[in-house]
Amino acid sequence: MSRFIRWITRARVPWWLVAVLAGGLQAAAILPFWGSEDAFPGLPVGLSVLVGVLAGAVGGPFAGLVAAGVGWLLFFVFLADADLQAIPALAAWAAAGGLAGLVADRLRRARSERALLRGELAAVRSASTEAIVTLAPNGMITGWNGAAEALYGYRRDDVVGAPAAMLAPEERQEELLALLGRAEEDGSATAETVHSRKGGDELAVAASAHAIRDGNGSIAGVSLAVSDIGESVEARERLREAESRHRALVERLPLVTYSHALGNRGSLLHVGPQIEGLLGYSREEWAEEPDLFERLLHPDDRDRVLAELDAAAEGVRPFRTEYRMLTRAGDLVWLRDEAAPVRDAGGHASYVQGSLLDVSERKRARDEHERLLAAAKTARADSGVKQRNLDFLAEASDVLSSSLDYETTLRRMADLAVRDFADWCMVDVLEEDGTLRRLAVAHAEPLRGDPNGGRPASRPEPPVAEVVRSGRARLTSGGDGAEPSALGELEAESWLCVPLLARGRALGAVTLVASESGRFYGADELALAQDLARRAALAVDNARLYREVEERADAARVLTYVGDGVFLLDRGGVIRLWNPAAEVITGFPASAVVGHAAAETMPGWQGLAERIPVVSSREPGRAETVPLETGKGERWISISGVEFFGGTVYAFRDVTEERRLDELKAEFVATASHELRTPLAAVYGAAQTLRRHDFVLDEAGRDRFLSLIVDESERLSRIVNEILLANQLDADRLDVSREPFDATDLVERVVDSVRTHTPPGVSVDVVSSPVVPLVGADRDRARQVLVNLLENAIKYSPDGGRIELGLDSREGVVSFSVRDEGLGIPADHHERIFEKFYRLDPDMTRGVGGTGLGLYICSELVSRMGGRIWVESAAGKGSSFYFELPTAEPDLVRTAGAVADDEPQAPDSD
Ligand code: ADP
Repeated sequence: MSRFIRWITRARVPWWLVAVLAGGLQAAAILPFWGSEDAFPGLPVGLSVLVGVLAGAVGGPFAGLVAAGVGWLLFFVFLADADLQAIPALAAWAAAGGLAGLVADRLRRARSERALLRGELAAVRSASTEAIVTLAPNGMITGWNGAAEALYGYRRDDVVGAPAAMLAPEERQEELLALLGRAEEDGSATAETVHSRKGGDELAVAASAHAIRDGNGSIAGVSLAVSDIGESVEARERLREAESRHRALVERLPLVTYSHALGNRGSLLHVGPQIEGLLGYSREEWAEEPDLFERLLHPDDRDRVLAELDAAAEGVRPFRTEYRMLTRAGDLVWLRDEAAPVRDAGGHASYVQGSLLDVSERKRARDEHERLLAAAKTARADSGVKQRNLDFLAEASDVLSSSLDYETTLRRMADLAVRDFADWCMVDVLEEDGTLRRLAVAHAEPLRGDPNGGRPASRPEPPVAEVVRSGRARLTSGGDGAEPSALGELEAESWLCVPLLARGRALGAVTLVASESGRFYGADELALAQDLARRAALAVDNARLYREVEERADAARVLTYVGDGVFLLDRGGVIRLWNPAAEVITGFPASAVVGHAAAETMPGWQGLAERIPVVSSREPGRAETVPLETGKGERWISISGVEFFGGTVYAFRDVTEERRLDELKAEFVATASHELRTPLAAVYGAAQTLRRHDFVLDEAGRDRFLSLIVDESERLSRIVNEILLANQLDADRLDVSREPFDATDLVERVVDSVRTHTPPGVSVDVVSSPVVPLVGADRDRARQVLVNLLENAIKYSPDGGRIELGLDSREGVVSFSVRDEGLGIPADHHERIFEKFYRLDPDMTRGVGGTGLGLYICSELVSRMGGRIWVESAAGKGSSFYFELPTAEPDLVRTAGAVADDEPQAPDSD
């Protein structure tokens, strides 16, 4: 039946066709019963209603109504014969047909809707990219779509009928079952979880479970929709990471980011946390108080910034500016504010994003930079002046170092100063004696007549002297209507005076005066003048040092070359200086005595020092002659001292020789007077005897006395001659001629004459070479020498003996010798016996007298004749005196014989 109904209702036939067919069927059902008496025949009526119902079922309500109406009409007309009583039956007909139509329609619609739904579901399932798994209430899989196949890897046949738990790994199965349970309870549930694919691979999924209920509302199953979120989890993770990185970055940036709604800066969407550090107000405070920005703007910047914001339509257009803001702590911060709209994909500005950067440092740096620039500009302006000053100093330095004559260089420096810096420049220098001397006065411009402001004095003014004394510079700046400050006689607008300082001492001062020019001196000029003064002082000091060194060097040189010994004792009696002459005289080298006490070095100094006169003035003192025990034995020195602040300087000279000579002279005088007195006494005695009348002499007696007088007179005359001759030799007034003579002849004559008064016991012999060349010398002087030696030989042979006179010749010389066997002469006297007045036995212990002049005269004469004389002797062994004279020139030799022959044979007499 239901199938029939389903068939009926599934038929889709146009209602009018059904109505027409039903009308035919009605006729077939009614008309056969036309004419029957039955007023209400049941069969035709039942058939007609049935037809109406069928028509409604097939063709819908209209068709049902029409078929019912047609049936009733036929009934009314043919069977009821238009009995009015039959009219209400129409309702039954109509109701049956219409209702059947409505019910059929309804059924048909419901069926088609179900079919649509099913189709849609199938389509959704197969089209879904999500895996859709249908589960029975017992958890068995009943449905499995293509996406599920793709996701899990199982084919439909593998899983249908299997438990749902197979879709999750073991540890997640509980979770899956719980999800299904929740869906059954609540209708639906979702979870992100992990499922497993065929083969065991795990996959991240989003699962959503929905309960399926049947018509009664009881659970008919669960539909599980599963999608793979592996990628999206990763993407989300990446996004989260990127976000946090971005946030960390942004939050660590030294700037504050912000965003606000378009056109409304007050409605902040976001502000970076750095805002609190920057301005002292937290993000919350910024969010709560829309006016905070305006309130914190620096009043001086507010109008400008608000106007700029307006112009940028609060961020709709890009905006960039700098302004100051007040922090909570009350400080000012310079901010750079940059903002620009953020546009969506369609290019529409959606909100404004901006940043605030603290540029206070940069601003300060820029301010500083500008300040420096300004300073540099000023400095450039100054540098012209500075350059001029430097040039001046350089030039002044050149001048100052150009010469050691600092007086000249300081004058030139003053000229330079008035050229560039002053109307007057004075240089005063402290002299060694402590007086301050005005060395230079220079004036700017050539001076015509007397300047109005007067001239500087020729001596340093008291303020200048005070600067030198104190070593402190003085600046009288004047200017600005101040009273002109006078410097002595000089009317000055402004003046400065700086000391010339070197090695901590003031050597003078430089004074610069500004008068007519109207200059005013300040700190700069003072510094310049001090620089100048430093250089000048250095020049003066150097020059003086140099001079001092030179002087010392000269003094040292003088001391080196001076013939007098000079030594210096300090206050402690230690020798500080010992010149070369002192070394020579004393035989003590400087190295051995300098630094040692004089008393240690010079024996007996202590006692001597008391006798040596020491003066303290520079006048030469009287010298004292004292014996000094030296390295060469005792020497007599003439010494005097001068005291000075550091000790005493002694100057001395060796007078040992002079002193000896003096002694010799004294001896000579004694000897000579004795020598003279003896013959005189003899002559006097003889003469007196001859005069006596009471005493009659015979002839022989008279002759004896007379010859005695003659002998002693000769002796006297010889002594006097010797003295005179020695004097002549001393005065270099003796001439010796140079003529050839025969030495043999001379020797013979001398021997003859001597033999006349040879004392008894003494014999004189001549030993001569057979041929002796002529001698080229003064014959008389040669004779004198020979006689002298011969007489000495006789004199110093008091015990008698043989005297031998020898004559010999060598190359170019003829040598004479006189040998005796007398007293002899010790070797250490061999040299000295030829000295003037020197006598071996001054006290005449052997009773032999003499003047000590004989050998001196001999040696002087021989050397004047170009020869030499010496002695060979030993004490007690006799003496041999030798002297040599040059032979005559060859031409003189030839005439020698003639000369000898022509010589007058006068008797020898000296
Ligand atoms: P004097 O007048 O004393 O003889 P001399 O000048 O002739 O002076 O001699 C100097 C000294 O030399 C003498 O005093 C004597 O001591 C010494 N003398 C000179 N000749 C001899 C000699 N032949 N023998 C020893 N002594 C001599």
